[in-house]
Amino acid sequence: MHDLIIIGGGPAGLAAAAYAVRKRMDALFISRDLGGRTKRRLMLPWVEDYQVIVGEETIQRFRTQLDYLLFMRIRSSVTSIDRIEDGFRVTITDGKTFDTRTIIFATGAQGEFLNVPGEKEFEMKGLCYSAMTYAPLMVDRNVIVVGDEVLALRGVAELARIATQVTLVAETDGDLDTPIGKKVLSAHNVVVKRGCKVIEVQGDEYARSIVIEHNGQRENLPADAIFIEKQLTPNSQLLEGLVDMDHCGFIQVDSRNRTNVPGLFAAGDVTDSSAFQVLMGLGDGERAALSAFDYLLGLGTEDFECD
Ligand SMILES: Cc1cc2nc3c(=O)[nH]c(=O)nc-3n(C[C@H](O)[C@H](O)[C@H](O)COP(=O)(O)OP(=O)(O)OC[C@H]3O[C@@H](n4cnc5c(N)ncnc54)[C@H](O)[C@@H]3O)c2cc1C
Repeated sequence: MHDLIIIGGGPAGLAAAAYAVRKRMDALFISRDLGGRTKRRLMLPWVEDYQVIVGEETIQRFRTQLDYLLFMRIRSSVTSIDRIEDGFRVTITDGKTFDTRTIIFATGAQGEFLNVPGEKEFEMKGLCYSAMTYAPLMVDRNVIVVGDEVLALRGVAELARIATQVTLVAETDGDLDTPIGKKVLSAHNVVVKRGCKVIEVQGDEYARSIVIEHNGQRENLPADAIFIEKQLTPNSQLLEGLVDMDHCGFIQVDSRNRTNVPGLFAAGDVTDSSAFQVLMGLGDGERAALSAFDYLLGLGTEDFECD
C-alpha cells in the first residue's frame, strides 16, 4: 500500500510529485507523459523565442527532479479508480493495480477543437488555444477570438486592452448577453460576428485568416493571430460518481485541494478553482501534496513515520 499516488504529469502533478519526494513519502507517479499541456508553444512571425515566458521552461526544473526517480514513476494511463478499505485501488492500461491511502488527481482539461480544414495544419502557428497566455504579445495587432462562452469573453477582455482590434466570432449568443458579455463587447476596439460558424483556417507558414459563414454567406477575416476559446472539458471521467463535481465536470475542491472524499485530492485544470495557468497548477499541486501529507499524519497509521 503506497502513501500517495499522483495521477497526471502536467504542472500540478509534477509539483505534487516533487513535493512528495522532498517529504520522503512513499509516492507513485502515474502519467501518460511529462509536461502535460505545457509542451505546446505558439509561434508567431513577429515574436522571438526570448519574448515568451513559456510554461515548458517554468516546469523544466520540476521535471528534472523526477527524471532520475524512475522507481516511483510509471508511464501509462489510469483506467479506473476504486475505493477499497483504507484507501483506493488504481488500475492502469495493462491491468496492473496499485493500492494507496491517498490520491492527487491532476489530469488537466482539454480545449475543444473547431474540426475544420486548416486547424491541424496551423495549430500553434498563429492559431492557439490560450488567449490568456499570449495576450501580452498582441500589442498593436488585429486578432480573432472564436467562442461564445465566458472563456472567450475573458480572452476578449484581456486582448482588447492590448491589441488594436479584437473580432469575436460567436456561433451562438451563448454568454454574450450577460452583464459581463455586454461590458466586454462594448469596448471601442471589439467587433462581434454573431451567429457565425468558422469553416476554414487559411494561411501560408502561419495562419493568416479564417473563413466564416453566416446564413449561407461566406466571409474571409484576416488576422495576426487566432485564438480558439471554446469551453474546456475536464479530464475527470475516472472520478464520475465518486466525487462531487460542478455541472461541467470540474472537480470541486476546498481551499486545501480536498475533494469531498477523504484522502482524495485534486489539483490544477481539472478542478473548479483553476485559472488555467502553469503557475496556478504548480501552486495547486504543492498545496495538494501538503494536504495529503497532513491527512496521512492524521490517520496515525503505524507505517507512516515522521523519522
Ligand atoms: C496551447 C496552450 C499553451 C499554453 N501555454 C501556457 C503558457 O505558456 N504559460 C502558462 O502559464 N499556461 C499556458 N497554458 C495553460 C497551461 O498549459 C495549463 O493551465 C496547465 O498545463 C494545466 O496543468 P495541469 O497539470 O492541471 O494539467 P495538464 O497540463 O493538462 O496535464 C494533465 C496531465 O495528466 C495526464 N493524464 C490525463 N489523463 C490521464 C490518465 N487517465 N492517466 C494518466 N495520465 C493522465 C496527461 O497526460 C498530462 O500529463 C497553455 C495552454 C494551452 C492549451
